[in-house]
Amino acid sequence: MRAAVCQGLHAPLAVEQLPDPEPGAGEVIVRVGRCGICGSDLHMTEDPAFGVRAGHVLGHEFAGEVVALGRGVERVRQGDLVSVVPIASCGHCATCRAGEPAWCEAMRLQGGGYAELAATHENQCVALPRTASLADGAIVEPLAVALHGVMLSGLQAGDRVLVLGAGPIGLGVAYWARRMGARAVAVQDLSRFQEERARAMGATHFVVDADDPVGAATRALGQKADIVFECVGVPGLIAQGIDQVRVKGTVVVLGLCTRMDSFVPFVALSKEVRIVTSAFFKRQEYEAALDALDAGSAEPRLLVTDTVALDAVPAAFEALKTRTNQCKVLIAPGE
Ligand SMILES: [Zn+2]
Ligand SMILES: [Zn+2]
Repeated sequence: MRAAVCQGLHAPLAVEQLPDPEPGAGEVIVRVGRCGICGSDLHMTEDPAFGVRAGHVLGHEFAGEVVALGRGVERVRQGDLVSVVPIASCGHCATCRAGEPAWCEAMRLQGGGYAELAATHENQCVALPRTASLADGAIVEPLAVALHGVMLSGLQAGDRVLVLGAGPIGLGVAYWARRMGARAVAVQDLSRFQEERARAMGATHFVVDADDPVGAATRALGQKADIVFECVGVPGLIAQGIDQVRVKGTVVVLGLCTRMDSFVPFVALSKEVRIVTSAFFKRQEYEAALDALDAGSAEPRLLVTDTVALDAVPAAFEALKTRTNQCKVLIAPGE
């Protein structure tokens, strides 16, 4: 099979021929229909903290058709169209049974979606409803990550919400926050590239003000935010969120920042700010995100700004490392 393969840190991906994967016990082989390029994939090729080496195939946001079954597979059949939950786990411990495979001791991140074929465990396959496309199946994961952050925030109907960062996670947060009753949702970014998309996803305001980011957001919302979602992941934004939230408000950190960051604890303490971090999602949230797409909610589909064939992946991947007007780019390995 063909795959876009990691060539080591700071090197562009390369399309190579690899042996077809064989399904182990309990595993299935999925012919990848669509796979999203995630911001964390970009991080993984730039930061040694993730331990990704040459020869690795990235890609955890994928959906496709089941084309082969390993020994003992019971729940999934050949020909099924599935969205793959990208977290492998033991499947029977207490956290797994509670729908939180991310915190299983045997947890392993699924990759392999930047390829024509990928092996995964049958327990990770969620059947695509008939109204959902393979592209829908590939955007479930970022939507589930966003939903998890909103669930952890304790959002109440009528809240005023500020989202820092208009990438797929930020826009996913805007979508869920508005759907769950936020009175106002301001999305703040450094450019207006995603303004229209943000408004279509649920944002009521879009804020760009490099000189006075704190004041501009407060003016847009009419007061300091009840909840700030940090969806960028660069140093300084947690401090900014603490400035932008009201007394006893909540700052939810979703951005993947792998560098040292700092804030003045007294600023947070003097307002009793609650700081919450959010990683991954529950199984139930993954299913709820897919269900939202099935129920005909078209807005999340607006996240997808481009679909590229495998040969175009190395260039598309490099382009996403710079400031771009893309939102979510999907790979179509079979096209
Ligand atoms: Zn992702
Ligand atoms: Zn487990």
